[in-house]
Amino acid sequence: MHEAMFYERQEKGLRCRLCGHNCLISEGRTGICGARENRNGVLYSRVYGKLVAEHVDPIEKKPLFHVLSGSRSYSIATMGCNFRCLHCQNASISQIPKDLQGELPGTQRTPEEVVRMALDTGCQSISYTYVEPTIFFEFAYDCSVLAAARGLKNIFVSNGYMSREAAETLAPVLTAINIDIKAFSDDFYKKVCGARLQPVLDTVRTMRELGVWVEVTTLLIPGMNDSREELQNIASFLLETDKTIPWHVTAFYPSHRMLDVPPTPRSSLQLAHQIGRDSGLDFVYEGNIGAGGEDTLCPGCGSQLISRAGFSIGNKSLPLGKAVISLSGCTPFFPAVQCEWPFLCLANRPLLIRVSRMANTAAVKPSRTLK
Ligand code: SF4
Repeated sequence: MHEAMFYERQEKGLRCRLCGHNCLISEGRTGICGARENRNGVLYSRVYGKLVAEHVDPIEKKPLFHVLSGSRSYSIATMGCNFRCLHCQNASISQIPKDLQGELPGTQRTPEEVVRMALDTGCQSISYTYVEPTIFFEFAYDCSVLAAARGLKNIFVSNGYMSREAAETLAPVLTAINIDIKAFSDDFYKKVCGARLQPVLDTVRTMRELGVWVEVTTLLIPGMNDSREELQNIASFLLETDKTIPWHVTAFYPSHRMLDVPPTPRSSLQLAHQIGRDSGLDFVYEGNIGAGGEDTLCPGCGSQLISRAGFSIGNKSLPLGKAVISLSGCTPFFPAVQCEWPFLCLANRPLLIRVSRMANTAAVKPSRTLK
């Protein structure tokens, strides 16, 4: 087994500092996630390199709509999670049974193998996803360092329950993170997820501070987190943090232990979308509900920059495979992500532009007009 990062010895056991739970783990026991174990006074990762999922996904599936749009992402997971969400769609791999001792299932991989598979399959990034990737931090970090050195981007799809120390360690090799804000109530987090709200909000802010591109997802569960007040609170938090953070409001379907709740009606997504835009957020997307609501519009003039259908990009005139960002001529500049060929909207007159630096608009020079 691989020794864990971020822990300290205390009188009654080992204190794990990887995520917001800060578990105190006594000899022979595991933390809440089931993925870290105290053996003879040393904290070990039980899941290092033990992959239970490896897929090539469209990056839009994460969802990430402003990073390497139209590209593929090599997506991996081990077993385990630090949340216990009643509606988890991946419970068969996220929840490690309490009585599962010893070796955990999984195909043993090295970081070198993962990076090579990503390159061989034409992916431009590696996504650490499906379960909470923080719980396999050591493997994700080792892969990320190697991937970055080989020109791949790294992406976390996360519940945001990560310590600041872990975020600061990861940020230099992390391009983007999609963080769930599952609700804006501590009560929801306690009852539905077995966690707390504040560490999630802290991670959203921390990642932005550290220069990682952040997109946020909220799965709207009828009657549980979709009130006008709660949606407004999430929108206000995002606005205070950074109005360019894209907010994905997505539809719930009955799953796991939440089979008695109906699917999200389209009207709830539309309400959230309206609240987000009225609050001043630049980008709000409706997801997981079929066509509509996923196009990227210029936040200034409303013209369509990118059309999407499912996980596909519809507007073939865009430079696929490159990061896409909208620089609106009718609104002030907003920052781009790892972007060489951004898409510029100048009041309904789209231009393909090349930028040498993304720090400010002065570096932007239009090079030719798109047909
Ligand atoms: S990563 Fe696991 S062991 Fe560590 S604090 Fe979080 S739940 Fe506990």
